[in-house]
Amino acid sequence: MLDDEARQGGCACALSETPAARGGKRERRSRPWRHPLKRHIEVPYRVAAAIAVMEMGVSEYSTIAHAVGLTLEEVERVDMVEDAAVRQLALARIPEGEWFKLAHRIRCPKCQATVGVVPCVACRSY
Ligand SMILES: [Zn+2]
Repeated sequence: MLDDEARQGGCACALSETPAARGGKRERRSRPWRHPLKRHIEVPYRVAAAIAVMEMGVSEYSTIAHAVGLTLEEVERVDMVEDAAVRQLALARIPEGEWFKLAHRIRCPKCQATVGVVPCVACRSY
């Protein structure tokens, strides 16, 4: 299992780039996502994905948590916008052209399509 993950994760470059990351525990699973227009906004990828899911109109914490791979508490914290970067992103909204891969597919509340990426492809194809 560990070997598979190491092969797929391209660990070699991560190690050579940031030797300090070697000691990091859960760093690689929460790579940061940066807003392409507002570069000062940077949040973990899954947090940005959670916001994208919320913007689709999904309000069930358990659904969001399952879809993006966060815990219920983490989703709750995102929804409370306690974090300054999260608040800025919630205000700025997810820009057009940004997509987030989900850990588990969800049903779009607007068009009922089952999607593996958010925002919903069907709804955004205008
Ligand atoms: Zn949709």
